[in-house]
Amino acid sequence: MSETAEHVVVVGGGHAGVQTALSLRERGWAGRVTVLSADHEPPYERPPLSKGWLKGAVEDDGLAFRPAATYAEQGIEVRTGVRVERIERTAREVRWAAGSLRYDHLVLALGARPRRLPVTGADLIGVHALHTHSDALALRAALDRARSVVVIGAGFIGLEVAAEARRRGCDVVVVEAGERVMQRALTPLMSSFFADRHRAAGADLAHGVVAAELLGRDGRVTGVRLSDGRRVPADLVVTGIGVEPNCDLAREAGLHCDDGVVVDEHLRTGDPRISAIGDCASFPVDQRRIRLESVQNAVDQARLVAARLTGEPRAYREVPWFWTDQHGGKLQMAGLTADSDTHVVVGSVDDARFTVLCWRAGVFVGGESVNRPGDHITVRRLLADGVPLDPAAAAAPGFELKTHLRHALGAAA
Ligand SMILES: Cc1cc2nc3c(=O)[nH]c(=O)nc-3n(C[C@H](O)[C@H](O)[C@H](O)COP(=O)(O)OP(=O)(O)OC[C@H]3O[C@@H](n4cnc5c(N)ncnc54)[C@H](O)[C@@H]3O)c2cc1C
Repeated sequence: MSETAEHVVVVGGGHAGVQTALSLRERGWAGRVTVLSADHEPPYERPPLSKGWLKGAVEDDGLAFRPAATYAEQGIEVRTGVRVERIERTAREVRWAAGSLRYDHLVLALGARPRRLPVTGADLIGVHALHTHSDALALRAALDRARSVVVIGAGFIGLEVAAEARRRGCDVVVVEAGERVMQRALTPLMSSFFADRHRAAGADLAHGVVAAELLGRDGRVTGVRLSDGRRVPADLVVTGIGVEPNCDLAREAGLHCDDGVVVDEHLRTGDPRISAIGDCASFPVDQRRIRLESVQNAVDQARLVAARLTGEPRAYREVPWFWTDQHGGKLQMAGLTADSDTHVVVGSVDDARFTVLCWRAGVFVGGESVNRPGDHITVRRLLADGVPLDPAAAAAPGFELKTHLRHALGAAA
């Protein structure tokens, strides 16, 4: 059985893969642990690439998960520059161009890759995506020279880059197919708060249009033709139109994939010796399946698999949370709020210190907090402990989230 495995092989050296190895050791796993990573650099964090690192406030060595020596000290073998090409499930072996390795348990932590813009001109010089450290190096160098920036896609990464481009004084146009910014993850109220912030900082937001063509001269981008016919000049185009999970390896090994490697509530694939976690995994929540692209999800799923492999299996029920920084607004989200239907705002929108509390079908499902870290932590506690919250109570004058939590926990004790 996998639970008594001797050699855990992790494919993927991102948040999920590295955390699996570290958690196994924290939990006393005495067997062999190997992390195989296609990246050529030691494992690093992605979130700063569009935030502090892009601004120059975080150095390169501030990106590393752990000092390189930690892995050796912990008996974790990290092999970089290894792109696994095949899983031989019968032989329990992973193979790559120059080698192979046997596993007793295999953890797929393959991450995702940015979606490519499907239009003419997408390969012109000056068109950038942001996913890896080398993408970030190229983008930061391009920003140093840029004057007119078009960001395609008003998701988290696109908007963080847009904010940095404005901070540097570039003209910025954000092109978004949907009706509002960060639509996939946020309530309309929060989208509109951040849209106002970007506009106030001087960015132009074009909604309900897509990039029809990237225009160029001598192989270099010069602008974007939009679906409504407008032409927007640009010497730098940044695409942030979402990611696709890396599933090919799993699919070719006969594992079920459907917008991610399909796993059960214990994060096992159809093969009990193979788990899948992080950005690449599609897992069940209530009556549906979701795939999350967040550090919290990658880390918590890694911990859960490490717990199972060391004899403490449990179902994955962690509260999702996420954060973003844009124009001095630190947004922290807890729960899944995008399709909520009832909202109550606590705090002051005018002072940019508020929380949108969210319900779906009468059930409290989470909160989105701007510059209110205390609210964010409290919402996470409410969700984790299943503490009910009534919209009418939350809307009453003098309502305090922390007091509500304290009373609820006191009453339960
Ligand atoms: C610019 C940027 C900003 C972000 N900001 C935030 C944020 O503010 N908050 C937040 O919560 N999340 C943020 N995210 C998302 C977060 O970084 C991801 O959710 C997280 O990295 C997922 O971890 P993962 O281990 O599942 O995947 P990844 O970190 O993508 O790691 C996957 C690893 O698998 C390797 N790999 C893939 N295929 C193979 C193969 N065949 N063989 C060997 N190795 C392979 C890859 O090289 C990579 O090392 C951001 C992401 C980006 C790109």
